[in-house]
Amino acid sequence: HADLAMYSAKEAGRNGLAFYHAQLSEQVVKRVKLESDLRLAFERKEFVLHYQPRVSVQTGKIIGVEALVRWYHPERGLVFPDAFIPICESNGMIRQLGKEVLDIATKQQAIWAQQGQPISVAINISPQQIKHDGFFEEIVEIVMRNKCNPRLIELEITESTLLGNDQQVHNFLSAVESMGMSIALDDFGVGYSNLIYLQRFPIKTLKIDKSFIQGLEENKALASLVVSMCQLMGFTAVAEGVETEAQMKWVAEQAIEEYQGYYFSKPLPLAEINQLLAIR
Ligand code: C2E
Ligand code: MG
Ligand code: MG
Ligand code: MG
Repeated sequence: HADLAMYSAKEAGRNGLAFYHAQLSEQVVKRVKLESDLRLAFERKEFVLHYQPRVSVQTGKIIGVEALVRWYHPERGLVFPDAFIPICESNGMIRQLGKEVLDIATKQQAIWAQQGQPISVAINISPQQIKHDGFFEEIVEIVMRNKCNPRLIELEITESTLLGNDQQVHNFLSAVESMGMSIALDDFGVGYSNLIYLQRFPIKTLKIDKSFIQGLEENKALASLVVSMCQLMGFTAVAEGVETEAQMKWVAEQAIEEYQGYYFSKPLPLAEINQLLAIR
């Protein structure tokens, strides 16, 4: 009996391992396919931007948009950034993708301005892009080439970009700021940085993470505290992820300047954002 028990335990272990290997290689195959599809995506121009309105709480008018990248995959259809940005960040492709996003977004900003719609465009930037020497020169080149107004460009960075208080990051942010661009800190409140630390950087706006807005029913006091801190330190507050009337009401009560969220509009393809801008 003891032998039998030992035998089956061994078998089970072996099968478990085999199962584990099968799963692992399936993951590896998927990942390799995804990376080679991503490489093709650049050549085939499969990346597009969708634009989500950023709205003034006071006037209810659109003051800008956030550019959010999408991948139109030939077989999978519309792919959202959470499914490929982390991969691009880990294999270095984010630099090329980031450049493409900057190029499309700044071109579009110039087109809107020409059409009499001088709205601001916010662009998400990964830490790896900023940590690469030469990124500032790349931005200058793209902005000049596309004849875009840097005063209407906002770069959204995350707290992980600031970790370590790297002098190079500080220099980069100061340089883009002196070009006229502004800096927003995305997903504020879920990271590690404290406000005193944030004040060292030329950051204008804090985007209050959507988890606070969506957690309002459970913890209003916490969300209020985060907003108050932000305002006391002189940052402009933007509420992310506003979906309901009740959330909208709270945002207005807090004297938050701007908001984004499904309550006003989801991120939209160019044709649809153009329609919305025309009637604004
Ligand atoms: P993010 O910059 O914080 O963008 C906000 C995300 O929240 C977007 O997801 C947007 O669609 C979603 N959102 C907006 N309003 C609401 C709402 O009312 N409710 C809910 N539940 N969600 C809402 P998306 O487009 O899937 O983007 C996810 C993240 O991917 C972005 O978060 C950003 O970190 C990253 N990302 C997107 N585009 C780029 C890009 O061009 N470059 C880089 N580096 N990252 C990007
Ligand atoms: Mg963002
Ligand atoms: Mg965010
Ligand atoms: Mg995010």
